[in-house]
Amino acid sequence: RSCVEIVQESLDRIQALEPKLHSFLQVTNDRALEQAKQIDAKIAAGEEIGLLAGIPIAIKDNLCTQGVPTTCASKILQNFVPPYESTVTQKLIDAGAVMVGKTNLDEFAMGGSTETSAYAKTANPWDISRVPGGSSGGSAAAVAGGECPISLGSDTGGSIRQPASFCGIVGMKPTYGLVSRYGLVAFASSLDQIGPFARSVEDAAILLNAIAGYDPKDSTSLKVDVPDYTQFLTTDLKGKKVGVIKETFGEGLDPEVEKSVNAAIDQLKALGAEVKEISCPRFRYGIAAYYIIAPSEASANLARYDGVKYGARIEDAENLMEMYTKTRSQGFGAEVKRRIMIGTYALSAGYYDAYYLKAQKVRTLIKQDFEKAFEEVDVLVSPTAPTTAFKLGDKSQDPLSMYLIDLMTIPVNLAGLPGMSVPCGFDSQGLPIGLQIVGNVLREDQVFQVAYAYE
Ligand code: GLN
Repeated sequence: RSCVEIVQESLDRIQALEPKLHSFLQVTNDRALEQAKQIDAKIAAGEEIGLLAGIPIAIKDNLCTQGVPTTCASKILQNFVPPYESTVTQKLIDAGAVMVGKTNLDEFAMGGSTETSAYAKTANPWDISRVPGGSSGGSAAAVAGGECPISLGSDTGGSIRQPASFCGIVGMKPTYGLVSRYGLVAFASSLDQIGPFARSVEDAAILLNAIAGYDPKDSTSLKVDVPDYTQFLTTDLKGKKVGVIKETFGEGLDPEVEKSVNAAIDQLKALGAEVKEISCPRFRYGIAAYYIIAPSEASANLARYDGVKYGARIEDAENLMEMYTKTRSQGFGAEVKRRIMIGTYALSAGYYDAYYLKAQKVRTLIKQDFEKAFEEVDVLVSPTAPTTAFKLGDKSQDPLSMYLIDLMTIPVNLAGLPGMSVPCGFDSQGLPIGLQIVGNVLREDQVFQVAYAYE
């Protein structure tokens, strides 16, 4: 089939499913078909084509795409059209991937259900009365619903892995710094990472190949050689040491999730892995530390939306201060305002030591738990999330219960480690369950190896 035909198929599927799923904030039909046409022309002319030539891909709408609106699902960026391309999307264009649209998310990626989007609520393709997870819910639903085979999300505290778990697909957060954040709208800069969603571990490895690597435009980008991740896709786990994170089991964990994850662990044993229990005692402080650090960084990052530089500006202000205030009051949703207030408070004079500094110290302790664990094992495993997908509206009025879903994913961001969620079964209602596999810094190879053998 030609690239145009492949892309058209994806666009047709999107058109058929969008009235129910709302994965996309915008479908880029014309641009996609034009790009596909150009690739077909290249093929006809015998020219070289990229690794992902003609493959339809969906992009989370917090990644800047030149000439294509980028809203972060916020009213404050309603009219923002970036004048430049993010590094990852440029790399995808260079590899021949064809963007079919920009996907829905929690506003500025703050949330765990995609319900804080100012524009739409995305449904879980397995049960449309349920959330797809979040914040990258649109990108996860698009792949799970077969609207496109791969997509990109961002993960600050679990926003790739948790929706991957809820939607029954593979989702990976790479090591902090492996993928350039240039052109990713910043939420919490010390935690944000971009990563792949796919239907298989192999596809995720191919997509990571395309986006990883040093970028001088991102000061936190790591100067490392990027291996071909597909070389680690082997099925033998003999001698591989797997640690089961003790603290992620027990109270609060859905028994059906526990059962599936335990079955997955048994399978790892059957594949030759040496499995043992590992304690990470400071894990349970992860959420508390995260909800100081992430809002603090967010409050600073979101100061730039003042009605002057980007997007929306209210018209009826009498003076500059009023313009700032009204634009921000009307432009940001409730969850974003909550984070800005928490962050501003935590960073204010007199409170810095009590909150921000303390949270950073806890972050170091959590990192040390991981360092100790990786002296003994190659990878760590846990459930990705304590439950399966919940009903739309179930948690949206209760921020704390929403924050708690990220219990198992947040520590991984705080330590900057690579983590992946792979499907590991279904609960009795037919909802997917995810197994989280975590590697040491830059040991994506180990994560891929275990994930691929298990899958
Ligand atoms: N759910 C977490 C939050 O609300 C994580 C979000 C993310 O990873 N972007 O902050």
